[in-house]
Amino acid sequence: MNYSNITMHKLSDMLENNEITSVEICTNYIDRIEAVDSKVKAFLKFDKEIILKAAKCADERRKNGKALSPYDGVPIAMKDNITVTGETCSCASKILEPVEAPYDATVVERLKNNGLIPLGRLNMDEFAMGSSCENSAFQKTANPWDLDSVPGGSSGGSAASVAASEVPVSLGSDTGGSIRQPAAFCGVVGLKPTYGRVSRYGLIAFASSLDQIGPISNDVLDAAIILDLIGGNDPKDSTSLNDECGGFADAILESAGCDLKGLKIGIPKEYIDCEGISESVLTAFNKSKEVLKSKGAEFIDISLPHTKYAVSVYYVIATAEASANLARFDGIRYGARDMEAKDLLETYFKSRGKGFGEEVQRRILLGTYVLSSGYYDAYYIKAQKARTLIRKDFDEAFKKCDIILTPTTPTPAFKFGAKKDPLQMYMADIFTIALNLAGNCGISVPADIDEASGLPVSVQFISPELDEKNMFKVANIFEENREIKDFQPNL
Ligand code: GLN
Repeated sequence: MNYSNITMHKLSDMLENNEITSVEICTNYIDRIEAVDSKVKAFLKFDKEIILKAAKCADERRKNGKALSPYDGVPIAMKDNITVTGETCSCASKILEPVEAPYDATVVERLKNNGLIPLGRLNMDEFAMGSSCENSAFQKTANPWDLDSVPGGSSGGSAASVAASEVPVSLGSDTGGSIRQPAAFCGVVGLKPTYGRVSRYGLIAFASSLDQIGPISNDVLDAAIILDLIGGNDPKDSTSLNDECGGFADAILESAGCDLKGLKIGIPKEYIDCEGISESVLTAFNKSKEVLKSKGAEFIDISLPHTKYAVSVYYVIATAEASANLARFDGIRYGARDMEAKDLLETYFKSRGKGFGEEVQRRILLGTYVLSSGYYDAYYIKAQKARTLIRKDFDEAFKKCDIILTPTTPTPAFKFGAKKDPLQMYMADIFTIALNLAGNCGISVPADIDEASGLPVSVQFISPELDEKNMFKVANIFEENREIKDFQPNL
């Protein structure tokens, strides 16, 4: 059977109808990884024996009428910053290379409780800092649509593995766009849930007030199913929300075949009149508007005036938080120790100097600087004030519209080495960063294929916080009606 870009809900239907077994599913994905991952390099590690053992248990449960959920036996791959008991969790960094996780992240525990099988560790930018996966200490993941182009980042392995049909669905983390941007570059769906929807327990922290775990999948329904499974309050994460969480997949199924009459979609002028936005992105965006209009949606011009500060604000707040979060990796409490060091200070210097890559060191320096007593007010406090203004922009906008439509990225995927200047690289997230600062949710959905490069181009739907249900419905109706039905690379 053909597993190319198959969804997990289709696999689940086949399992439920006894048309296939989990062992067959997992064997297929293992074979696929063995066939293509030498080119894509999405996986840092995977262990066949463990996966097949889990698949056998899932089949056994189903045979005895004890399946844990309709998804029992479906594999899901993890970004290498989400802990799975007994597996490495390196964050693609040398400093954590020897570490084995002693516990499951809450998201992993919830997936396992539903019978899903964690399948391998996915490459990423070191400590989730980057937009191209080029900052991994171990390997460069390629874009399955063009092996000379980047898959995006930091969840590049998560997006590339799904696009390359090495796994039906994966988890990534999004601090400033790291789920949506690589999903857009690889032609798959990427969801950043509302901050606090999904527990961060077991996610190695980069910037705690921005980080959120979310799925990368082949369609919007799969993203909703995963949020149903992993979302909801977790006492182990003090920032986890108490709000009711669930019913996302049902909301989509109820809206299948519906139109969008009465829906007001905001188009922020700052995202369209933006310097550096490519023709193909604008074409895809305009085509997407036509699709939504044909289903009855109404468009409203809106303004998010503080958007222009979002990237700068992000690089003050994210680096400040990162410098504190990464202080624990000192070669003593956590992380690889340099054994040549002769005293305590040298142990810190050498372990951190050798363990962290260039981008991570740059961010620790920047973060320490903006938090230092002389500059705290000038940078950190100012950035926090600007963050409030960015959040208020969204509040104002959502008084006029129900949902916002933007491109996900200013260009399709770029070639390896194309953005050597870190500041240029930082601009790759210009359309995704603001909503991490504001805390609300967004989803990237493939929209078109750029004629010149043959690469996918995507759009982003942004909703108010906790309004995922409506966001999923609209994204699903868009997906049902967009011109190109199948986004599949020729690998
Ligand atoms: N690309 C952004 C950065 O480098 C966002 C990363 C992320 O979302 N983890 O910080």
